[in-house]
Amino acid sequence: MPNLLKIIHYNDEILRLKSEPIKELTPEILSFIDDLIFTMYEKDGVGLAAPQVGVSKRVFVCDPEYSKTDKKNPIVIINPEIISYSDEQDGEEGCLSLPNIFEKVTRFKNIKISYRDLKWNQKTLETTDLFSVIIQHENDHLDGILFIDRISKLRKMSIGLKLARLAERTKKEKLT
Ligand code: ZN
Repeated sequence: MPNLLKIIHYNDEILRLKSEPIKELTPEILSFIDDLIFTMYEKDGVGLAAPQVGVSKRVFVCDPEYSKTDKKNPIVIINPEIISYSDEQDGEEGCLSLPNIFEKVTRFKNIKISYRDLKWNQKTLETTDLFSVIIQHENDHLDGILFIDRISKLRKMSIGLKLARLAERTKKEKLT
């Protein structure tokens, strides 16, 4: 049975670190990835990156179709790199690390990534629309970037109080 991992919230500094590449698939890493997948579904997320549970490693899981079909088809992306991109799209984003905050973000519409899969095969994946947004959002987490870093200054100001309250709550959570 996988474990439910604790979600790290804004603005814990671990969310701001640049994560380390995974060097090999050890039993510990594989079991961690199982926990990450389990936690994503438990928390009703469409994506979850390792830094969001306090682990600074370059891996995330996602399931862009889950909200539509209810059928679980988790995709595990290890050591991703965006190798090409084109066009732009705007869409509303949220994040398990920033509960109750939803903002419009401009992202690339189409991206191609290279990554390693659960069998350590080097692969490429071309995605578009929502799938592409999820990959970019999760990939940002591996570099310590949050979606609120990509919204306009004006929007960021308008949610300033919400962010300050959340940061305050996170600080208290850490002390207890
Ligand atoms: Zn996120």
